[in-house]
Amino acid sequence: MINPSYVVTIDGPAGAGKSTVAKRAAHELGIKYLDTGAIYRAIALILAKSEIRPDSEEFLREALSEIKIELRENSVLVNDFDVSGEIRTPEVDELASIYSAVPAVREALLGLQKEQENYGSLVAEGRDVGSVVFPDAKVKFFLTASPEARAKRRYLERISKGKEADYEEILNSIKQRDINDSTREISPLSVPEGAVYLDTSDMTEDEVINFIINHVKEALSK
Ligand code: C5P
Repeated sequence: MINPSYVVTIDGPAGAGKSTVAKRAAHELGIKYLDTGAIYRAIALILAKSEIRPDSEEFLREALSEIKIELRENSVLVNDFDVSGEIRTPEVDELASIYSAVPAVREALLGLQKEQENYGSLVAEGRDVGSVVFPDAKVKFFLTASPEARAKRRYLERISKGKEADYEEILNSIKQRDINDSTREISPLSVPEGAVYLDTSDMTEDEVINFIINHVKEALSK
């Protein structure tokens, strides 16, 4: 039986493994993957480059109305310029966390995220996708792990890509981002209503994927 269009959401803190899991789950389910963090990263990068401070509401709104963001299969474009590589740095980790706490930024990006549902079923990953962006999603997950387990994963990921990495620095950055993301006034990171809570500290990637796929298939069969 072919199911009508549906949305699966995966929320959780930095480094919980959401991206890898969401990407693989989308692939196995044969549906699209929506990385909302990439959108926040792209906008933060361009705002910082334009020297628009997060507290300058007027300039910020003006700039946001002029920025065009385009999502492609494996890339994100800002004003027709591919920033996919540039947004994956520790600097942009921090910038995205800071700018995403600004209400004008979140408001400006909400429509773009919501409209992705019109292009077919998807697995959306982020910090408020199950609560604010897709509150009616078919299945919602909240993925988390201890700060240490998350820092270790990020560390190994960077090393495996041949990048420089400092475990303590990564751990501190993760803890700081947790504070920023959970204490901001607008859309703070929280477990969405009806979400399945999954602590992945002691789980392998395959175990997490199997859990998610089984859960989605069960929900779709009802
Ligand atoms: O998931 P990722 O690490 O790429 O997200 C970068 C930052 O963007 C997060 O630390 C968070 O501050 C912000 N973000 C958000 N809401 C989302 C996705 C990301 O606030 N839905």
